[in-house]
Amino acid sequence: MKRRETKEIKIGNRIIGGNNPILVQSMTNTKTENIPETLEQIHRLEEADCDIVRVAVPNLEAAHAIKEIKKEINIPIVADIHFRPDLVLESIKNGADKVRINPGNIGGLEATKPIIELAGEKNIPIRIGVNSGSIEKELLEKIKSRPKALVESALKYLEFFEKQNFNNLVFSLKASSVLETIEANREFAKTNNYPIHLGVTEAGLPESAIIKSAIGIGGLLSDGIGDTLRVSITGDIVNEVETAYRILDSLDLSSRPKINLISCPTCGRTNIDLIKISNEVNNQLKNIDKDLDVAVMGCIVNGPGEAKEADIGIAGGNGKGVLFKKGQILKEVPEDQLIDSLLDEIEKI
Ligand code: SF4
Repeated sequence: MKRRETKEIKIGNRIIGGNNPILVQSMTNTKTENIPETLEQIHRLEEADCDIVRVAVPNLEAAHAIKEIKKEINIPIVADIHFRPDLVLESIKNGADKVRINPGNIGGLEATKPIIELAGEKNIPIRIGVNSGSIEKELLEKIKSRPKALVESALKYLEFFEKQNFNNLVFSLKASSVLETIEANREFAKTNNYPIHLGVTEAGLPESAIIKSAIGIGGLLSDGIGDTLRVSITGDIVNEVETAYRILDSLDLSSRPKINLISCPTCGRTNIDLIKISNEVNNQLKNIDKDLDVAVMGCIVNGPGEAKEADIGIAGGNGKGVLFKKGQILKEVPEDQLIDSLLDEIEKI
């Protein structure tokens, strides 16, 4: 797939856009000024390979906390600010690697001028994030299409920022509707070459958020659109990062080594406890940093053949199973030793 050509933007020690990897973001849900709790979450995110973290800055204490937080973390920190331009300035002064604002609620275009000036001085990128929830009413009434209003709104800010000679920009156009998110981003992507941060906003609890994000973010990524992404989930933030990587892995866009587990849906021919075995194999594979396709198949009749592209796999028989490599049978193993034998073989690869 051909990625949209975008300008490179430096965020702390990372670069997005151009040919750089698509980076995964998440957002803490602590009171940012509670430094120990915020750090605990960021460290968990770092552990999960999150590339960029965003924190909410609703007050002065939160802006000041950025300085202390930065000393203890290794990934760039983005300050997310609504309503108060003074907090954007404070966040930048305290070392935010990027700020995310919605000019529509920060006091209008004029209020962004001091922000532009300070961000320019410190070489800090600004993400202009327009959301369907906060789209200007007049614009929506005039245009009567939410995706088009999102695009129009983002373009108005783009033009204004460029007029101030500021082009260290990233954009995001988010809606809670998957189709509106896709339409808005596709349209916006045609008009410029700034990096785009992707997300389906307020996507809900995991079962719906994961599907909405996979379709919305995944759909845009498969069009070549998107330089960073955040999966919004009501729940554990680490789940956001894991889901983001699963979306990237499914499209072969992840920069990390990837283990792809291929497991059959089971049927009347299945002779082993395939669901239990697949879950166990999946858990064990999480700790292995290799690029591998691993197959767990229910029967010896079709298993190796169906998974012939897999690097390694197991196929169940009656109380036993076979280990196979690239579709060729290696050996027969009793059912209770199948997982260990598979992991031994994986270690040898
Ligand atoms: S691999 Fe075998 S057990 Fe699994 S779905 Fe296919 S035929 Fe059924």
